[in-house]
Amino acid sequence: MAATEWEAVIGLEVHVQLKTRSKIFAASDTGYGAEPNTRACAFSIALPGTLPVMNVEAARLAVRFGLAVGARINRHSVFARKHYFYPDLPKGYQISQYEQPIIGSGEMEIDTAAGPKVIRITRAHLEEDAGKSLHEDLHGMTGIDLNRAGTPLLEIVSEADLRSAAEAAAYLRKVHALVRYLDISDGNMQEGSLRCDANVSVRPAGQKAFGTRTELKNINSFRFVEKAIDFEVQRHIEVLEGGGAIVQETRLYDAEGDQTRPMRSKEEAHDYRYFPDPDLPAMRLDDAFIDSVRAELPELPDARKRRFQSQFALSAEDTAQLTAEREFADYFEALAAAPGVDAKTAANWLLGDLTAALNKHGMRIEQSPLPPAHMAQLLQRIADRTISGKIAKEVFAAAWRGEGGVDDIIAARGLKQVTDRAEIEAVVERVAGDHPQQVEQYRQGRHKVFGFLVGQVMKATGGKANPARVNEILREILNRETG
Ligand code: ADP
Ligand code: MG
Repeated sequence: MAATEWEAVIGLEVHVQLKTRSKIFAASDTGYGAEPNTRACAFSIALPGTLPVMNVEAARLAVRFGLAVGARINRHSVFARKHYFYPDLPKGYQISQYEQPIIGSGEMEIDTAAGPKVIRITRAHLEEDAGKSLHEDLHGMTGIDLNRAGTPLLEIVSEADLRSAAEAAAYLRKVHALVRYLDISDGNMQEGSLRCDANVSVRPAGQKAFGTRTELKNINSFRFVEKAIDFEVQRHIEVLEGGGAIVQETRLYDAEGDQTRPMRSKEEAHDYRYFPDPDLPAMRLDDAFIDSVRAELPELPDARKRRFQSQFALSAEDTAQLTAEREFADYFEALAAAPGVDAKTAANWLLGDLTAALNKHGMRIEQSPLPPAHMAQLLQRIADRTISGKIAKEVFAAAWRGEGGVDDIIAARGLKQVTDRAEIEAVVERVAGDHPQQVEQYRQGRHKVFGFLVGQVMKATGGKANPARVNEILREILNRETG
């Protein structure tokens, strides 16, 4: 009998910290990195008698996301208490949304190896973040920092439409790009602004019913989401092929050991004793509010990608890379709009030398020492033949190091391309005189030495001679003196 072919089934729950100034139900500041508990107001530490007040900005950002994924915006939604005990949750419950979330079903397209694929979004709901337990520097004790308690989160739940770890990573990247385009979150995964739980199961190919799932908690990088799911899918297959059964449970991914291990048995919804929070009225959104959010939606990544393809006649691959990050796309547009800059050349430099330099220094495009105007100058000097593409790399490196403007560097280093006929001719004559053997070979029809002679001329001019002019003049001189 043939071995069973297994299919992975994956659904993600992505938690996105929304970029509001104050917390979702209190006036204290949000924001990462403050001294512990300096942003823990009376409500954040659950002092008796304090009451939540909804921050409308959080609803605005949630609706912005909902509109971007074509989701139903629920005009009536309800906050519910989700009960569990944990030291970083002093109220003993988290305010979340349960049966009536603010955002209903929508969808998002991802790129897969087999082409574009639509992933359905089940819902997205608002909730408050919990505090943090600190273990470092506390010598066997645990500290509680409640600065994060009450930071607004949007939890985006996908249908179990993902079929591989790679698809899950592509989906997570897409969510990341989208929330940054929408400017609803900084998306900083190291700081926990975007984290995800992955639900994983397998089933024999062709079977309709889902298998038993496990949930991998709190994954905070694209690389880990892929590795964690790969490991977990393999583990499921091995358990099932060994005749065992998958236990529905919550597991943690251990990046160092590249494995997952059990954390706790999966709680059921009834364990949380959800009920509508009596301290908060139902949230009602009117059409005027939703329309005002729609009116301020920016151009979204997919639309921008399509526009770049037609406006700049660029390939699908180039445009996918150029539009993956909003700031990157902004940089490209500013560069391509500069006079005398060709879009394809701009894309090549951006995806080539500039990206390489940014990666090498661990920098983001917004931090580039060469802003678009500066980069435009460089491309203009190539276009007007002041410098060759090769010399441009040297100018780029010098400009990156802060040696000055493009024109200053070209002047200071004497890099201006030589196109003057007399000047090039003099060098060609000298090189021909220095290499009588090669000249002779050329004249006997062994034209392969031509490249060598061009190289010698380029070397003699420090790479500054215009290569086309050198070719032309050298060929002339070699042929002229034949007769
Ligand atoms: P819970 O509230 O217990 O976290 P949900 O029913 O809301 O569970 O589902 C959470 C996530 O798990 C969703 O993304 C959903 O698509 C996914 N999911 C549900 N069942 C399965 C399954 N059998 N295999 C993989 N993913 C699943
Ligand atoms: Mg869950």
